[in-house]
Amino acid sequence: MNWRLEVAVQTPAHSALGDVLSYASPQPVAPGALVRVPLGRREVLGVVWSGQPAGVQDDEDEAAAPVELKPIAAVLDALPPLSAGWRDLVAFAARYYQRSLGEIALAALPPQLRDLSTVQLARRLKRQAAPAAAAASPGGPALTPEQAQALARFDAESGPFLLFGSTGSGKTEVYLQAVAALLEREPEAQALVMVPEINLTPQLEARFKDRFGSGAVVSLHSGMTNPQRLASWLAAHGGAARIVLGTRMAVFASMPALKLIVVDEEHDPSYKQQEGARYSARDLAVWRGRREGAKVMLGSATPSLESWHQSRPAAGEDGGGRYLRLAMPSRIGTAALPTVRLVDMGLQPPRTVLSAALLDAIGQRVARGEQSMVFLNRRGYAPVLACGDCDWKSECPHCSAFRVFHKIDRTLRCHHCGFTERVPRACPACGNPDIAPVGRGTERLEEHLGELFAGVKRPDGSPVRIARIDADSTRRQGALESQLAAVHAGEVDVLVGTQMIAKGHDFRRITLVAAANPDGALFSSDFRAPERLFGLLMQSAGRAGRDAAYLLAQGTTAEMWIQTHHPQHALFAALRRHDYPAFAQRELEERSAAGMPPFAFQALLRADARTQEAAQGFLNAAGAAAEGLEGAQQVTRYSAVPHAMQRVANVERAQLLVESASRAALQRLLAAWQPLLHGLRKQPEGKGVIRWLVDVDPHSI
Ligand code: ADP
Ligand code: ZN
Ligand code: ZN
Repeated sequence: MNWRLEVAVQTPAHSALGDVLSYASPQPVAPGALVRVPLGRREVLGVVWSGQPAGVQDDEDEAAAPVELKPIAAVLDALPPLSAGWRDLVAFAARYYQRSLGEIALAALPPQLRDLSTVQLARRLKRQAAPAAAAASPGGPALTPEQAQALARFDAESGPFLLFGSTGSGKTEVYLQAVAALLEREPEAQALVMVPEINLTPQLEARFKDRFGSGAVVSLHSGMTNPQRLASWLAAHGGAARIVLGTRMAVFASMPALKLIVVDEEHDPSYKQQEGARYSARDLAVWRGRREGAKVMLGSATPSLESWHQSRPAAGEDGGGRYLRLAMPSRIGTAALPTVRLVDMGLQPPRTVLSAALLDAIGQRVARGEQSMVFLNRRGYAPVLACGDCDWKSECPHCSAFRVFHKIDRTLRCHHCGFTERVPRACPACGNPDIAPVGRGTERLEEHLGELFAGVKRPDGSPVRIARIDADSTRRQGALESQLAAVHAGEVDVLVGTQMIAKGHDFRRITLVAAANPDGALFSSDFRAPERLFGLLMQSAGRAGRDAAYLLAQGTTAEMWIQTHHPQHALFAALRRHDYPAFAQRELEERSAAGMPPFAFQALLRADARTQEAAQGFLNAAGAAAEGLEGAQQVTRYSAVPHAMQRVANVERAQLLVESASRAALQRLLAAWQPLLHGLRKQPEGKGVIRWLVDVDPHSI
């Protein structure tokens, strides 16, 4: 007998092909099995979604005129099929984020799986280790009362949980012990621990491997080679790995015995994928936890306003949120949170980069052998190069942005399209040889500090050591690890960097952190900018004074310095008191009054085109076409506007916002809209449109 299989394959994002393709097979193949199938002239990897005996058709017309199905090429039967839970997760993500099933399913698999033949895979699996026993009694320090209470509630309730713990309150220790308790209780269970960025995985990985033994823990992130990723994936899929540590992509890891999901720094924007399928790994983690009966713990010192609102306690009429909030306000040991000092830059001499008081404070710490950290969210030497005689500025010819001056290799580089040129000897417009950098990035700040601290000595009389960590300094494989290791080893006195250094790291000897120029985000048009700034500043402050014993021995206190032109701003007032709840309450009141998330749900329709008119024309036609669709009455549609970065690589970008107080109504509209959008693309309205996409729950508008 012949079987008809529905198979998810990677089809081009907007191809006319349906979600799954049909193939013939001489024998039944289980849903979730991996197969190789012909597609056009190629043979590609696919995931079997369902199957039934051929000839048994739901659709009578089709039965009347049976199509000749292509046979599948091979079944990768050495591999156990992907579970129903995994398939549901993929199907949900595809539906919710408006992408094809095949795209999500195939992107969730390690790339190397696509190239392996059945024989190669079988050989590969033979080398696979048996399920790793996690270290029998993992140990760990005695919990503080706050940690113990959080864990007790975590054990007793079903969640999802929001672990609201100050920086340095021992959240990671809570994760470790929650995982330990699970693995001890259930001999097969698996835990997924997610962190926002690759650069945080080495340290966390070390802590987990230390505790549970290296065989039990694998990593999954984009910094790994394809063979490494395949090995981790197979270990998770086969159950050998008890703990998977990874970045957002890990939310799709196949883990047949998944019982616990931790999302550390849950507020971090990098959990939202910013290209292709724009999913939120945090939100999917919560969904997956519910589907698979795995407990979910989100952790942060500055939760997203969504999670904060979702975990509000019941009050009066309001029955409270769906999440359970666990609070750990105190730092480990006797360490207090750093004192926040605001420097009013309006009172400084013109063109001050680092105020005298801040320089003095850093200098004193260098002299005592302590470490300081200065962060500035702008890499390169200077954001713009300009001519003093005419209007010339280092604009990118292809984007609505300036090219950044990188002194190290004397280039002008566009951070949006990558267009790079040597710095011209003279102004390209008027020939004036005096073209000068305007503003500053981390490279220039590092240079500046070097000059200012030339005479400053360390306790042993040796000169100060300044280092920089940003996307430029860490481009080389392994560079970030070695630079971080140097900081941990105390080989750096003053560290300059972008937000890369602000997050998560458990630095022991940093006692001062400074934000050189955070004002930009205060008046951004993006309504989430204050939330992000507050989180970033709290995170940065959290890098200072993490070791109470060290502070005591040094006779020093931890400080966070902020240079600003707006010291009276309410955001800084809350920051001074380390009062996230006060900040959140104010923001939520504003959001509620304005009908913005988390009190409303949004999606953006975005279009790229050769001209701004074409992009907006397509969007506005799409907006008009949505009239009368299911859910449309409950969804507000705005007019198309240019994207904040209007032009990138000679492509004009525009967007149209849709918004509703009902997530379900918004989802219904998006689903009904999708086929219209595909159709419109082929109409005159779609002329000149290069691509379009829907971003559900967008992060920046
Ligand atoms: P967070 O993740 O909340 O920033 P960590 O879990 O990194 O905090 O903990 C901060 C520091 O305190 C770490 O060095 C950790 O080893 C230590 N620590 C955590 N819990 C305890 C505890 N119960 N007893 C002693 N030290 C602890
Ligand atoms: Zn000029
Ligand atoms: Zn450019």
